[in-house]
Amino acid sequence: MKKDCVFCQIIKRKLPAEVEYEDKNIIAFKDIHPQAPVHILIVPKKHIPSLNEFKDKDFHLISKIFKIAQKLAQKKGIRDNYQVHLNVGKKAGQIVFHFHLHLMGGWKK
Ligand code: AMP
Ligand code: ZN
Repeated sequence: MKKDCVFCQIIKRKLPAEVEYEDKNIIAFKDIHPQAPVHILIVPKKHIPSLNEFKDKDFHLISKIFKIAQKLAQKKGIRDNYQVHLNVGKKAGQIVFHFHLHLMGGWKK
């Protein structure tokens, strides 16, 4: 938990979020500024700033996160119409320095 981290605060329920999935290690909630009809952030509960800070022992979280992306895409009815996206570094558009995968989809043609 990092006190000034917005996602740590959501994990600790100090900030509200529309939670779509949660288990011991991972939480997924709706993006507050959606860029697609469905836009969910899938986030490890452990505070890891970006992909660059993953240690060997953390990589199991990546496979869990992708598994949850697959399951949420199914649950939201977008299984043939989604993207996953992750930003690393300010110049690449990362604004929240707590690792997260964007699940975006549900576009009409
Ligand atoms: P990134 O640019 O990859 O760091 O993405 C950060 C994302 O977090 C953006 O799409 C924001 O809209 C989203 N975001 C920031 N604050 C919140 C919040 N309190 N609840 C939900 N999503 C948030
Ligand atoms: Zn954090």
